[in-house]
Amino acid sequence: MYDTNSPLNNINVSFSDYVQRHATSMEAHLVNGVPDYSFSLDNELRKSMMKIPHFTSICKTITSSLVAQQIQILNQEGIAVGPNQFPEIYRMTADCAQKLGIGIPNVFIVNSPGEMNAYTIAADDSSPIVVLYSSIVERMTPGELKGVIAHECGHIHNNHSALQSVVNVILSSLGGSGIAGMVITLANIALMQFWTRAAEITADRAALICADDVQDVINMNSTLLTGGMIGKQYSVNLESLREQLEITLNNPSKVYEVLSDHPSSVRRVFCTMEFSECETFFQWRPDFKRYDAVVRTKEETDRRCQKLVNILDNVKGGIR
Ligand SMILES: [Zn+2]
Repeated sequence: MYDTNSPLNNINVSFSDYVQRHATSMEAHLVNGVPDYSFSLDNELRKSMMKIPHFTSICKTITSSLVAQQIQILNQEGIAVGPNQFPEIYRMTADCAQKLGIGIPNVFIVNSPGEMNAYTIAADDSSPIVVLYSSIVERMTPGELKGVIAHECGHIHNNHSALQSVVNVILSSLGGSGIAGMVITLANIALMQFWTRAAEITADRAALICADDVQDVINMNSTLLTGGMIGKQYSVNLESLREQLEITLNNPSKVYEVLSDHPSSVRRVFCTMEFSECETFFQWRPDFKRYDAVVRTKEETDRRCQKLVNILDNVKGGIR
């Protein structure tokens, strides 16, 4: 029976129209070819990194051999997620990819008792791979796990992945006699570390954009702090955690974080909270905007996050 008055008749079911509409809506989220939610510091540092002599040729040499090798190892040592293999995790991944407008990455789970980690492998000529350590899958709630997957999809969306692979190889080969060690100066190593930390903030923003609940992404970072051992009978008090962060911001020992490729999870919790009040976030997720929501511009959000990830200067006037 065909009801001519049904509103369902007006729904456009054409797949090509859907693809066109999707592509247009994703273009609306690009600024100079970069996703509009990206942390500005990430983009500034990436541009500086690309100016390092021979950097592009080092990238090509490293990624072409690394990716093939990694795929082989993952197929031998890990388990490939798919529609019939851990389908819940596959569905989470598909949802994140659809929200960000990227292809569904291949996901592998590898056995890693104790260590909570995830990373992405990509090169120009192969589809990206997300690797989840089994402890992450085991200890996180489904919402937190989706946050981790979305974070990795954010790295893919921002073309971080190939660069991250290269930076990791360069940093782990320092002191050796490899090509990287010969051409990369100490200043450039610091630049790479700065960039990887800024890129993490961008990826956490992608996690927020894909989340079913903002709190899941905040909890994801606090679970990385607690190792997930707290369980659901306890929760992290964010005010106390903020006091903890304020102590670290003006401690001279914080310069040691320069050697780290990730910002501390404490910093990440508060950078995530900052983006949850950003106008760009609400453009992606108007469904999360409450009538009394605090809304800041992207520039103001980036400025506040820059203060939160600052390692070299003392932070005056607090971080509120
Ligand atoms: Zn990351």
